[in-house]
Amino acid sequence: MRTATSRLTLRRPRNLTDALTMLRDEGPLTAIAGCTDIYVGLQFGTLEAQRFVDLWALDELRGIEQRGDTIRLGALTTYSELIRSPLVQQWLPMLVSAAREVGGRQIQNRGTLGGNIANSSPAGDTLPVFAAAEATLVLRSADNERRIPFAEFYTGYRASVLRHDELIGAIEVPRVHGRQWWRKVGARRAQAISKVMLAAVRPSPATGGRAADGVRLALGSVAPTVRRLPRAEAVLGAGGTIDEACRILVEEIEPIDDVRSTADYRRTVSANLVARFWSDTA
Ligand SMILES: Cc1cc2nc3c(=O)[nH]c(=O)nc-3n(C[C@H](O)[C@H](O)[C@H](O)COP(=O)(O)OP(=O)(O)OC[C@H]3O[C@@H](n4cnc5c(N)ncnc54)[C@H](O)[C@@H]3O)c2cc1C
Repeated sequence: MRTATSRLTLRRPRNLTDALTMLRDEGPLTAIAGCTDIYVGLQFGTLEAQRFVDLWALDELRGIEQRGDTIRLGALTTYSELIRSPLVQQWLPMLVSAAREVGGRQIQNRGTLGGNIANSSPAGDTLPVFAAAEATLVLRSADNERRIPFAEFYTGYRASVLRHDELIGAIEVPRVHGRQWWRKVGARRAQAISKVMLAAVRPSPATGGRAADGVRLALGSVAPTVRRLPRAEAVLGAGGTIDEACRILVEEIEPIDDVRSTADYRRTVSANLVARFWSDTA
């Protein structure tokens, strides 16, 4: 009997080298990690891919470890693993906050960081965190490994520098000195795609930060890709008022009207989130 998935093929490499060789020599193949985004695409018929390579068994893409002043997060790290990790809780609490609000428990158990980043949705909840943390992505191919600053990964709406023969191997996050803050606004508190989310860092001597480290603001869902707000950051870093920063930030973002929200609402919520961050971390 033929089913909706009969036309699909799945390759199951035993290790990362095999997977990268398959991507190079047998492509185009689409990577599957937790499959939570892929499955939706298959279910709704929006995904054209028919040939897949399953990454789930590749231990080389797992693990959360400290390397000097950096945390290395394997691309297959799930939200549940982030929530449970004492290292991430201590070093990157804004990522734990984001992970706690991704989907429900089932999605947190299967959904991965690599999938969230590669899926390239402007509503991906971890993207503002990695933008604010100034992370680096380690991209692997059969012939090469390259490190791309997170700020240079996306090239436009759902577009990135990731090549078809490459995988995201890991995310490297340098230690963030300052008070970290993360908040998501959706239609309801859980199981809702974000309308706007903010990851932010405020230098604070209590956490080893210096004023020179600067304020960091990264908004999601307000532009084709995740957006840092350098002008608003500069105002706050120079001792300007929060009202002034909020006036500027609404000029820095380009929200759209869509089924989830209006551009005006997103502008207002963005300014409210930044104001809340500022008062919470005073
Ligand atoms: C019910 C539901 C609720 C959800 N809620 C949220 C939410 O609140 N917030 C949120 O941000 N997302 C949410 N999502 C989306 C999704 O769960 C996340 O984006 C998740 O992190 C995707 O990871 P995955 O491993 O399942 O990716 P997959 O579905 O396996 O893959 C997604 C994309 O990434 C590519 N990919 C995966 N891993 C790699 C890799 N290592 N290298 C290169 N490419 C790779 C795949 O080819 C594919 O294009 C939700 C999804 C569902 C179904």
